[in-house]
Amino acid sequence: MMEQEIHITLRFNLATGKVNLNEIVYKLKELRDPLMLKILEGVLMSYDDLITERLSRTDIYPSKDRKGLGRHLRKGDPEERFCRGRKIKKRGYRSRPRQFSTVFGKLYLRLRMAQCRSCGAFYSPLLSALQIGQYARRESNFEYNVIEAVIDTNYRRLIDGRSIDISLGGIHNIVAGSDIGHSFQEPVSPTDLSGIMADGTGLKQYKGRKGELRAVIGLTKTGRVEPLGCFTNTGWPEIEKTVKERITGTGPFNIPFIYDGEPGLDNFLSDVAESQRCTWHGPRGLYHALWEDGLKKKESRPETDKIKQFIGIELPEGDFEILKEEDKEQVKSRYESSKSEIKELVETFREKGYKHGTAYLENLSERLFTNIELWLKTGIIAPKTTSLLERVFREIGRRLKRIAWGWADKTVTNLSKMIMIRQYSRKKWEQYWKDKLGIKGYFDIEILTVKISPCKHF
Ligand SMILES: [Zn+2]
Repeated sequence: MMEQEIHITLRFNLATGKVNLNEIVYKLKELRDPLMLKILEGVLMSYDDLITERLSRTDIYPSKDRKGLGRHLRKGDPEERFCRGRKIKKRGYRSRPRQFSTVFGKLYLRLRMAQCRSCGAFYSPLLSALQIGQYARRESNFEYNVIEAVIDTNYRRLIDGRSIDISLGGIHNIVAGSDIGHSFQEPVSPTDLSGIMADGTGLKQYKGRKGELRAVIGLTKTGRVEPLGCFTNTGWPEIEKTVKERITGTGPFNIPFIYDGEPGLDNFLSDVAESQRCTWHGPRGLYHALWEDGLKKKESRPETDKIKQFIGIELPEGDFEILKEEDKEQVKSRYESSKSEIKELVETFREKGYKHGTAYLENLSERLFTNIELWLKTGIIAPKTTSLLERVFREIGRRLKRIAWGWADKTVTNLSKMIMIRQYSRKKWEQYWKDKLGIKGYFDIEILTVKISPCKHF
């Protein structure tokens, strides 16, 4: 480790007897980003000098002082291997300063050039030492801030309020180039899950094309949302394959699988989960079936109301809860009476000749009670409606609408993943960025003294 000091001279004018605290703070705040940019520039330039010194003065510095420095591609090597040469000739500075977007604003950096004494390649020892690609135009804290701002739907404020300069196209490029698609693939243990949900939502895409965003989430037994995947314009079979790859162990685990009755999902994850139509849509579906049987709304209303009641009996307060032992008996007796009432209703429908209504209700009742049977067996009340997933979609949709219109499938998927993981797996999200930024304790800086020189003229 090298220790160095930065000396900063600031000058201020103060109108005695007139200035207030707010103005002082206001002006200091304005100084913050430009000051940090200057410090950053200073640190980098002095690092550049130090690196160059060690690589060029091989008569003074032993080779161990060049460790981690001077990495460059071997000139003219068709296989693009790294050169072993660590001795350079100084070749001045690039004529134009290199621009970097940073959280403090645009940094203009004069880059020193070097020529390798072994292979003759020209390169910037500073960029190589800082582990920035030859073509990088921004640092990752900047990306992190931009993405956080997009997720918080306040990126406008971020851009307007600070010196951060990024266009919608720039945000698109950050999201498109993200490796989020390959991250967060660690296995999920099905024994931790109390339910799996899947659903889709419409998406406006390029030139008004209609797309569909699909998401699969798990709900853990402690009530946490575990994102299992986000997909744009992807078929359910492929989604199933991807999700299944993340679920460890061999089933069936009888985790309730909740969806709103979309035909493509009837056997989704069937070797892991037990399908269960989202009961919330029951009354609506029955209304439609009875309408097909020729019933007017007025005539079908009493029947759909009954269904609402049956479903209502079991609807838990929250999204999920643990069934208390003492409540089990009550649930059980309600469940049995509901079941026989629905059976009776099915018979009545049959007698009245409601063909569609009969078929719908029979099908619904089968699925409707799967979850109650599961509660009684496991004691865990799984979410019965996809309302939780609908909330997730609302949150994603709100953000996509503002920013992601016209984006390609992969980019929309990337952003949706980011939103899901940031919202529901905050700790993993923060760790992901920490790893990405490479924070390892190789740089630290502290304020030593802040001294005000005496006023020259009172
Ligand atoms: Zn070389």
